[in-house]
Amino acid sequence: MTAAIQYHQVDAVIVGGGGAGLRAALQLAESGAEVAVLSKVFPTRSHTVAAQGGIAAALGNVSEDNWLWHMYDTIKGSDYLGDQDAIEFMCRHAAKAIIELEHFGMPFDRLESGRIFQRPFGGMTKNFGESPISRTCAVADRTGHAMLHTLYQRNVKANTQFLIEWFALDLIRDVDGDILGVIALEIETGDIHVIQAKATLLATGGAGRIFQASTNAYINTGDGLGMAARAGLPLQDMEFWQFHPTGVLNAGVLITEGVRGEGGYLVNSDGERFMERYAPSAKDLASRDVVSRAMATEIKEGRGIGKHRDAVYLKLDHLGEEIINKRLPGIREIAKTFASVDPLTAPIPVVPTVHYMMGGIPTNLDGQVVMHDGQTERVVQGLYAVGECACVSVHGANRLGSNSLLDLVVFGKAAGDKMACDIARQQPHKPLPAQASDATLARLQRLEHASSGESVSEVGQAMRLSMQKHCGVFRFPELLDEGVNQIQAISARAQDLRIQDKSKVFNTARVEALELDNLIQVADATMRAAHARHESRGAHARADFPERDDQQWLSHSLYHAQSQRLTYKPVRLQPLTVDSFELKKRVY
Ligand SMILES: Cc1cc2nc3c(=O)[nH]c(=O)nc-3n(C[C@H](O)[C@H](O)[C@H](O)COP(=O)(O)OP(=O)(O)OC[C@H]3O[C@@H](n4cnc5c(N)ncnc54)[C@H](O)[C@@H]3O)c2cc1C
Repeated sequence: MTAAIQYHQVDAVIVGGGGAGLRAALQLAESGAEVAVLSKVFPTRSHTVAAQGGIAAALGNVSEDNWLWHMYDTIKGSDYLGDQDAIEFMCRHAAKAIIELEHFGMPFDRLESGRIFQRPFGGMTKNFGESPISRTCAVADRTGHAMLHTLYQRNVKANTQFLIEWFALDLIRDVDGDILGVIALEIETGDIHVIQAKATLLATGGAGRIFQASTNAYINTGDGLGMAARAGLPLQDMEFWQFHPTGVLNAGVLITEGVRGEGGYLVNSDGERFMERYAPSAKDLASRDVVSRAMATEIKEGRGIGKHRDAVYLKLDHLGEEIINKRLPGIREIAKTFASVDPLTAPIPVVPTVHYMMGGIPTNLDGQVVMHDGQTERVVQGLYAVGECACVSVHGANRLGSNSLLDLVVFGKAAGDKMACDIARQQPHKPLPAQASDATLARLQRLEHASSGESVSEVGQAMRLSMQKHCGVFRFPELLDEGVNQIQAISARAQDLRIQDKSKVFNTARVEALELDNLIQVADATMRAAHARHESRGAHARADFPERDDQQWLSHSLYHAQSQRLTYKPVRLQPLTVDSFELKKRVY
């Protein structure tokens, strides 16, 4: 490795070339700002590319719809932990965001009428919960692929600068607490770069790789959360992780909810369509946390399928060849490749699999990162976050399917607008602190000299197995106690890792070690926040506290990594312009 440090100055630096980063970058580039997008993989390989089922908006193309109904569904889906102002903002702006994507060239599927195709998705209903509605716009089962490529091409046209296969290491924070840019590693050469910026946006995506069974890409390692935590910033609502009901058994690969949207359904070993018992009205299109718990219960009570009775079947053969080939071609491929079944004739064995991180770096509606001291909220100057790494919070305790892609584009645009405005006001760049990169270089040095410890894969495997066992679909007090201690011990083991073949593999072994640091930060925050929350809400289901407790727990958790302390802030129940939706028991 060469440790030459190179310095750069830009108006805005964006860490992450997924849907969120690219939507914000486009807004900035088109406003005339000089914007650099840093990505550890080629931008179109970001996890957004894997999004299958679609993106929600109350367009009303199939039947009458209303953004207020979408807002109600999202608040209910969040188990009332979502902030109602942010949810109003997202649902109100959804239709415009879709039309904008269409005008950018995104090739949406069409209805006979020529309008954008829409399909039903879990928890999306008509008239405040009456019956399922078709609200999710799609490009077959490859919606994220179409969206990411569209946004990438628009950015190329707008002269966004891309720094590809650069790995962001840390934020630069001055004595006032303002963020002045990032320090990054150029993966191929090992060079270190200091990128000074008037505005820094984290758009690093999720961290589903803290668990053993995950639908997430290997690159989803929570780097932005690690960077924020090391800079002394809190992480919000980390106890809330979504288990997607339909991951392929033993492979983790996702089968979109769009399958159930098109009419597929789950059956147990008795061939029973069991969701009718758990959610009589919405059935298989109940919210994901509800369906995952029902599946886990069926399996626990001995009605699972397969050799170990540890899965259930997803049946779609009755949909017929035409629908499957037209609307779900990728799913047919996945089922053949990863489950060795052709869904035209046989059901797919599926199991709840970690999918989405509802928590993240706390922000306001403009994407600005915020700190909360118990009473007041204050903005961290120069730092913004959007997408899965951020928590604004529109998803609360449980995200509705197809609301994440929407979150990326609505808040990506809002953050881009705010950053452009802040950049225009700030002349020139704030000076860098003298020792801006010292702590980061010390961290790299530690990796260079570590020799006696375990390998990255050994420690990483211990973390993933521990999370899977101690922080699953249902959470038990003794397991959470044990989990907190285990993750702490694993974190200590990660301080002295043995890096193999570091000279041979273009620094990729070092990158894996750096990613593990970030994963462990996220795992620690998750375990501690889950341990502390004594209620069940959305995706957080405690065996010892089975009910939601609005008296005690209608609040967002904030985990402060450096002091290992949790604080709480109230949920924002007041929307922007409409009346607040009152809290109700959640039934589907
Ligand atoms: C299989 C699957 C299917 C899904 N389907 C849907 C769906 O149909 N509808 C829906 O709404 N949601 C869906 N989701 C969720 C949704 O796709 C994601 O939440 C969303 O795409 C995340 O986008 P993002 O821009 O925040 O991050 P990502 O797309 O994950 O991008 C993260 C970016 O950050 C970069 N990065 C990360 N760390 C670093 C670092 N240290 N240095 C430099 N760069 C870094 C990466 O290179 C990448 O460019 C799905 C998720 C999965 C896993």
